[in-house]
Amino acid sequence: MTENPISGEVSADRADKLFQQHLNETYRNTDHLFEKVMLLQWLACIILALMMSAHTWVGESGQIGTHVWAALVLGGAISVFPVWMIRVWPGRTCTRYVVAVAQMLMSGLLIGLTGGRIETHFHVFGSLVLLSFYRDWRVLIPATIVVALDHFVRGAFWPATVYGVSNAATWRSFEHVGWVVFENVLLVISCLRSIEEMRSVANRTAALEASERGARLIFEQAPIGMAVLGLDEKFAQVNTRFCQMVGYSDQELRQRTAEEITFAEDIEPGRQCARSLLDGMARYTSDKRYVHNSGRVLWASRTACLMRDLDGKPEQFLLMVEDISDRKKSERELREAKDDADRANQAKSEFLSRMSHELRTPLNAILGFGQLLERQNPTDAQRTRIRYIISAGRHLLNLINEVLDISRIEAGNLQLSLEPVSVGEVLQETLDLMRPLAADRTIDLSVMTSLDSSCYVLADRQRLKQVLLNLFTNAVKYTPIGGKVTVSDIFCGEGALRLIVTDTGPGIPVDKLSRLFTPFDRLGAESSSVEGTGLGLALCQRLVHAMGGTVGVSSTAGNGSTFWVELPLTQSPLERLAEQMSGAQEREQGGQVERRQILYIEDNLSNLTLIEQMLADEPGVELITAMQGQMGLDLARQHLPDLILLDLHLPDIPGWEVLARLQKEDATRGIPVIVISADATARQIDRLMKAGASAYLTKPLDMGEFYRVVSETKASPTATPECVAA
Ligand code: ADP
Repeated sequence: MTENPISGEVSADRADKLFQQHLNETYRNTDHLFEKVMLLQWLACIILALMMSAHTWVGESGQIGTHVWAALVLGGAISVFPVWMIRVWPGRTCTRYVVAVAQMLMSGLLIGLTGGRIETHFHVFGSLVLLSFYRDWRVLIPATIVVALDHFVRGAFWPATVYGVSNAATWRSFEHVGWVVFENVLLVISCLRSIEEMRSVANRTAALEASERGARLIFEQAPIGMAVLGLDEKFAQVNTRFCQMVGYSDQELRQRTAEEITFAEDIEPGRQCARSLLDGMARYTSDKRYVHNSGRVLWASRTACLMRDLDGKPEQFLLMVEDISDRKKSERELREAKDDADRANQAKSEFLSRMSHELRTPLNAILGFGQLLERQNPTDAQRTRIRYIISAGRHLLNLINEVLDISRIEAGNLQLSLEPVSVGEVLQETLDLMRPLAADRTIDLSVMTSLDSSCYVLADRQRLKQVLLNLFTNAVKYTPIGGKVTVSDIFCGEGALRLIVTDTGPGIPVDKLSRLFTPFDRLGAESSSVEGTGLGLALCQRLVHAMGGTVGVSSTAGNGSTFWVELPLTQSPLERLAEQMSGAQEREQGGQVERRQILYIEDNLSNLTLIEQMLADEPGVELITAMQGQMGLDLARQHLPDLILLDLHLPDIPGWEVLARLQKEDATRGIPVIVISADATARQIDRLMKAGASAYLTKPLDMGEFYRVVSETKASPTATPECVAA
């Protein structure tokens, strides 16, 4: 059998060796026992001879000298040689055999000295038992032969010296030897059993050794640091990896406690760990810092458990420790990089927010007054011009929104308002916006669709327009002058509608199609005269996906392109416009009109004028205005209006501070506040809504939304805050 130190498989060689060692030890120990026994027996013989000299041997007279000399000389002759051999060759086979013979001769001498007293025959039996201590049954053979010869010879010639009578029957010798043989049988069995036990002990010891060696090897050669600590936290055992990790030698560590090499701040958590384990926790895993011998601080992931004795009493702590300094370093670097990126992102968001505000404020005036003019019965020519102003304003607004969208998508913050959208209407509005551009480039913009206002898809209206506008714009701007762009549609299976934009432009090479929706990748168009950013299609794809639709393209270089958008169809909803109209009608019913005082706090004159004019025709509404925050607060306290419209960028106190002060005072806390701001970022909206605003409207204002929110926002404690982004 081969030895496997890890599995603890037993080595037969090792078991043999252990067995042999044990046997040799038994031989030597028994030899030394006989060394003493021999000398004692010799002495006892002399004493006995001296004592016996007063008596006569049976039937004969004896001389004192004869007995004593016999004990002294014969006893000496029998004992000295084996004692000498024991001294010189302890444990040897020959020594054992000499001892066996001598011991039995000594029995014979003793029997002879006592004149064959039957009691001294027991010395023979005792001697055989002593010889069996060797666990070598073969030594019983010469011993038995000596006893047999002694009895037969002396029984025949000097029976008195062995049986105490002058005439002894021959059977007595046979009987004596027979008892000796009987005892030998028992002793041989006992020896063989002992040998068997010794072998099994050797096997078990060898197995235990192998398993211990395996455990030691695992401990020593483990690729992680391992340490055994006493309950006083002193290192009892450490492996090589742990020593390398903390830079101390095995001996140095054994003279230290774990706390002595622990980073100061982690000492208390370490004590907590020990307490938890002693309180019964199975294992405790934590990251902690050690101080390396060189003074450097290293991070380690440490798992500790408690080792108990067989009675369950806590004995030692075992640690399985791993150096995670590198991981901690890269985590820290990652965190720092993320913080940097967050800061940069924050700066970008703030920049975008500010920029969007700066651009949205003048747009508010353009679109707001444009919409007002549209409502004042303009002539047809004026209406067309107003529409151009409004559509251009909206286009510009879209551009601003696109920049904001990119940042929102990057931040995963895109907010959509999915609702049933009339595809016919959206298509019409988008195509209207496109026609001037198509006309400019003498592109034939043909619409091969019969969609009416009753066909609805589930989408965000603004986002759908944005997507279509981008596809139409691309088709028109990339198709050479005089080309053709066709807009068509088909109903697809599973309740979806596909809008298709086909152009006769240059087409897109197959190998570039996969890069089409990659942000900022213009597929080489950057070297052409066609302006663009490379963001439109990337935005389209993300927006359409977010609305639950798909977008695709098929194109061949030189043969034009076909882009399509597929969106889920939905049932026609109740007309929101009808709701608004009914709301307006209610407002116009003079007799039931409730009177409302509205305070508008805004520093921008054009915005102020716009709201004034928008509310001028509203029945029952009285508008008071303030161009500064403090003044607005004073007016609020003085008049306790029914509603406050609040701009955020005020010259003295920021709008959010005005809101906070209104919320703080008992008298003004119940007045609903609608924030009107050009800052359309989700963060800002969220912040103001949390601060207590009832609604948030973004500039440029959508008039329908404005009227609805103003009419619905009442001083009700159960009113749900609302946010409407243009
Ligand atoms: P851009 O601002 O450059 O138009 P887009 O994301 O809208 O960005 O489009 C990405 C690129 O795809 C364009 O730069 C152009 O090379 C190509 N492309 C888009 N639409 C068409 C089209 N209808 N015909 C040919 N090429 C197109």
